[in-house]
Amino acid sequence: MHHFLIIPDTQYMAKNHPDIFLNMTKTIIQYCKDHPIDAVIQLGDIVDGGGQANNEFDTAKECFQLLDNAGIPLIFAAGNHDYDQVIGIGLTHPNPEVDGRNLSVYNHYFGYDRLKEKDWYISSYEKNQVENSYYKIGEMIILVLEFGPRDSVLDWAHQVLTNYPNKKCILITHSYMYYDGKRTSSHSEHNPIHSPETKDGNDGEMIWQKFISKQSNIVAVFSGHHVPKNISYRVDKTDKGNVVLQSFQNWQEEKYGGAGRMRLVQYDSKSNSLILSVFNPLTKEFEHGKDYDLNIKLGGGEQVLID
Ligand SMILES: [Zn+2]
Repeated sequence: MHHFLIIPDTQYMAKNHPDIFLNMTKTIIQYCKDHPIDAVIQLGDIVDGGGQANNEFDTAKECFQLLDNAGIPLIFAAGNHDYDQVIGIGLTHPNPEVDGRNLSVYNHYFGYDRLKEKDWYISSYEKNQVENSYYKIGEMIILVLEFGPRDSVLDWAHQVLTNYPNKKCILITHSYMYYDGKRTSSHSEHNPIHSPETKDGNDGEMIWQKFISKQSNIVAVFSGHHVPKNISYRVDKTDKGNVVLQSFQNWQEEKYGGAGRMRLVQYDSKSNSLILSVFNPLTKEFEHGKDYDLNIKLGGGEQVLID
C-alpha cells in the first residue's frame, strides 16, 4: 500500500494566512508520526504573486521546510501563480513566448538544489529546472508536468514512462480537469492555452488524447487550479485498457484559503485500487462532502466508470 497526502493550491495561505499554512505542515508532521505517508505532493500555486512575491515564497519555504527536515518526501508542481510573472491574470508579458514560462524564483526556492541530495528524485526534462520532473516513491513513479505542458514535454514524459513499464505512475499537473468533471478544453475558464505565455502547451483534454490515453501504467492524475467548486473526478480507460482516476481538488476560495485541506490517497497495488479522503488540518478531522470519499477499483475486479 502506498500513502500520499496531496495538497492543492496554497496560494492564499502563503499570501494572507501564514499561521494557517504553518499549522498545515505541523499537522502533517504530527499525522506522519502515527500513519504511514510515502510522500506529500503539492499541486502548484504554492504562492499567489509569482516571482514578485518573495515574502510568499519565504512563508511557503519556512512551512514546507519542516517536512524536509522531518525527512518526508515532498514534491511540487508549478502553478500559473508560481511563474516569475503570473500567467493568466490579464497581464501579458512583453514577449510571452520568450519569457512567459520562466520559473527562476520557483526553482530558486523549490528546485534542483533542494532535490539533488534526495534519493527519491530521479531526473528532470531540463537541467536544473524541476517543473517537469519525476520521482520514485516506493514502487511508484510520480511524474510532474508544467502548467499547460508543451508537446516536447509530453514526448519526454512518454519516454520516461516507457522506461518504467512495470511501475505504476501518478501524474501531477496544475491544470488538467475542470470543476465539472470534464477535462479542461475550450469551455473551461483559466485554460492554460488561453494565455499567450502557454498557448503553445496542452490543456487537459489534449494531455489525455496525446499522452495519457497511450499509457499502460498511469493509475491517477491529480490537479487543482480551477475555481470555485472544490472537487470533481472521473474514471476513463486508455487505449491500452488501463483505467485512470482523474481527480480535481481545490479549496483556495474557502475560508483561510482552504485551511490546508488535503487529499489522503491510498493506492493498493495488489488490488489495483485507490481510496481517497479529505483531511482538514485546522479541525484535525476528515470531512465527508459529496465525492470526498472514493473507493475505486481500477482493474482486476469491478470497475467504476463515470460517463
Ligand atoms: Zn492556478
